[in-house]
Amino acid sequence: MKVPLLDLKSQYQAIKEEILSVTREVYESQNFILGPKVAALEEEIAGYCGTKHAIGVSSGTDALLISLMAAGIEPGDRVITTPYTFFATAGSVARTGAIPVFADIDPVSYNISPAAVEKVISNMNREEIKSLRAIIPVHLYGQCADMGPILEIAARYHLTVIEDAAQAIGSGYRGNRAGSLGDYGCFSFFPSKNLGAFGDGGMVTTNSETFYEKLRVLRVHGSDPKYYHRLIGGNFRLDALQAAIVSVKLKHLESWTEARRENAARYRTLFSDMDLDRRIQIPAENQDRHIYNQFVISVPEKRDALRKYLQEAGIGSEIYYPVPLHLQECFSYLNGKKGDFPVAEHAALHTLALPVYPELTADQQACVVEKIRAFFGV
Ligand SMILES: *Cc1c(COP(=O)(O)O)cnc(C)c1O
Repeated sequence: MKVPLLDLKSQYQAIKEEILSVTREVYESQNFILGPKVAALEEEIAGYCGTKHAIGVSSGTDALLISLMAAGIEPGDRVITTPYTFFATAGSVARTGAIPVFADIDPVSYNISPAAVEKVISNMNREEIKSLRAIIPVHLYGQCADMGPILEIAARYHLTVIEDAAQAIGSGYRGNRAGSLGDYGCFSFFPSKNLGAFGDGGMVTTNSETFYEKLRVLRVHGSDPKYYHRLIGGNFRLDALQAAIVSVKLKHLESWTEARRENAARYRTLFSDMDLDRRIQIPAENQDRHIYNQFVISVPEKRDALRKYLQEAGIGSEIYYPVPLHLQECFSYLNGKKGDFPVAEHAALHTLALPVYPELTADQQACVVEKIRAFFGV
């Protein structure tokens, strides 16, 4: 039985008519840039995330970059984030000229550890602390970072909090949704995210009127009014076509998320029926709402051999992420070295994402678990 890591075609089949009808509307209007479809989606996303505002942008990466720009991050500033995330989180920091400062992750949630953040700050000299401007917690795999202590640290050092919620639309933290906890919430509509466009797209959420206005201006090259530039912005616009498609998909998001959560629960049952405890670790349960953009197991031994075995059996899996950011070649100027962030390095060597997409069937899941059992011979 073939089990892909993600099956976007089957999702498309279920909503095809709705999609074709809204995209036709956009073609007929010949209104492709911003406009009513984007404005409508912004209102829907703000409502969904529980924020006052949302602003459509060109990608999740641009959501991060424009938020950093709106926060006034400048060359030489320091921004704390996790070394265990998709490249764009720290890449965006570096593109503003600021210095990414990494803090290790929690071994259970894989999210940035507030205790590690405290430790990193306590090792800084006065000049470095003075240059600290922002922190970017990433809600990795669809689970919110431990925002309570993070917000407390941010308040103490007057840091802007930019949530990288690219993998976490609809996830919860103490009754609030991802994107509503910090100053800015950054979302991605990359096709493999839980709410994916038919191309690139993103969104920034905020509760601040001031930040919202600045984001709006920065999105169109900093022009306000047209052709008068108070700020240097960029082309960070979301397409009307993508917005129309994402609006259609947003109506289904809750049911897709529930299906992902049910699939995660089914994995728990299937794995608990087998004596795999010492071979793999499954994600810990947490009272806050996890939306399972990925279902990531940890494999203490033979992770790469397991992945190859699954691949040969027709089962998709992926390693997110094989190289922590402090060890990426392009960040060698930061002088990161092996051993700096042992928890992130351990995760990079041992984690494996299994299929958990909403359309996955119970039979397919049983097959995934059976193959893992067979691999370990238990
Ligand atoms: C996908 C992703 C991004 C970037 O989003 P794009 O839309 O691909 O630019 C940023 N951060 C994280 C954690 C992501 O998973």
